[in-house]
Amino acid sequence: MNRTQIHIPAVDLGTAGHLPYAVQTAEPTRTRAEQPATDGAREHTEPENTVPNRDTFIAALPGAVDEAMQKAIPHLYTPELATQIAKNMATELSNPQPTEPSHYPWCEPGACTSHRYEDGEVTTEHLGAKLVMPVPDGLDCYNNELLYAQLGYDENFVQSVPTASINSGGNGTLLDDDSLDKVIGDLTQFTDGLRAMRQQMTNAAGTNAEEPVTAAQRGQDWMNKWGCTPWCVAAHDQTGGLECHASAPNETQLRAADLDCTGYSENGRTLPWLSAQVIVCNEKPQAYGRETRVWMSYGVHVAEISPAQAREALDQMRAFTAQLAAVVDMADRVAADDFPGDPEVARLDKEATDRRIKAVGARA
Ligand SMILES: [Zn+2]
Ligand SMILES: [Zn+2]
Repeated sequence: MNRTQIHIPAVDLGTAGHLPYAVQTAEPTRTRAEQPATDGAREHTEPENTVPNRDTFIAALPGAVDEAMQKAIPHLYTPELATQIAKNMATELSNPQPTEPSHYPWCEPGACTSHRYEDGEVTTEHLGAKLVMPVPDGLDCYNNELLYAQLGYDENFVQSVPTASINSGGNGTLLDDDSLDKVIGDLTQFTDGLRAMRQQMTNAAGTNAEEPVTAAQRGQDWMNKWGCTPWCVAAHDQTGGLECHASAPNETQLRAADLDCTGYSENGRTLPWLSAQVIVCNEKPQAYGRETRVWMSYGVHVAEISPAQAREALDQMRAFTAQLAAVVDMADRVAADDFPGDPEVARLDKEATDRRIKAVGARA
C-alpha cells in the first residue's frame, strides 16, 4: 500500500472540524458514496456529462482497449491480447478488491479506525501515540490532562496533511506544521525556563556567588568614561581589563573539572563546564561601528561568535539534548548488568602475573 492511494473527498469547508480528534463532532462531510450504487439496468438512460456507471464502462472496455492499443502500442497489438486485457480489467472492475487501509509509520497499532462505504471505498482516521504531560501532584485538571498532543489524519476531513491535536484538558485545537513549530518554540522556551528555575533552586541552596557590579550600579560617570552598556560588568579600570563590554556570564553549576579528565581547570576558581555571555565592542564607534558578539565557553575553550551563530549553536544544543537523553537512558540500562570483580580472585591473578614476570627475568 502506498500513500498516494489516499484521496481527499471534496468537502464543505464550513463544516470541517477544528477540534481535537477526541472531541471532533463535525459529521463526516462525505455522503456521495453512501448512496446506493446505481442499478445497472438503468444504463443508457443517464443524461450527458455524468460519469457512466460500472456496467456501462465494462461494456465499452473491449472496443476502447482495442482502439487504444492500436493507437498507442501498435507493435504490441494483437486482437487476442486486447480482448484479454479488456477481460482482466472488467474482472477487476466487477470485483473490487477490498482495500486494506494503508497506515503511516507513526500510526499507533490498533488506534486507527476505518469506515467502509457501500461502494467499497474505505477511509481511515489515523492516530499516533498520545503524548501526555502528566498532571503535577496537587493540581486538579479537567480529564486529568494538563497537556497532551497527538498526531492524526482523517482521510474524510479537509486537512491534506496530518495535523497535531493539542489539548490542555479543556478545548483543544488542531495545528498545521507552522503553528506546531511555534508551539514547539514556545514550549521549549517554557521548558528551558523551568530548567533555569530548577538551576536557580540549586544555586540558592549552595554558596551565593557574589553578584558582579554592573556599569549602571557604578554610575553615569563610569558609563560615560568607558562607553559602557548599563549591564556591563567589565572592570575597565584594572590593568589588562576588557576593552569590550560584557554581560555577567551565565554558567552551569557543573564545573569543567568535574568532567575534564585532563586535569586543567584552575583559573582563580574552577571554570564552569559551560558559560555564555554577551559582548559589545564599541570603541571609536563613529570609525569602527558597534558589534555584538557572544562568548560561549566550554571549560578552557572559548568561542567568540555572532548572535546568529549563537542561535544556531542553541538549536543544535536543544536537538542534542534529546540524543544525550537517549544515550543516558541506554547507559542506565546497560549499567544495570555491571558488577564488581572478586578481590580474592583479583589478588590471585596479580600474584600469578608477578610469578610469570619473575620467571621471565630469571631466564634472561
Ligand atoms: Zn493509521
Ligand atoms: Zn563596559
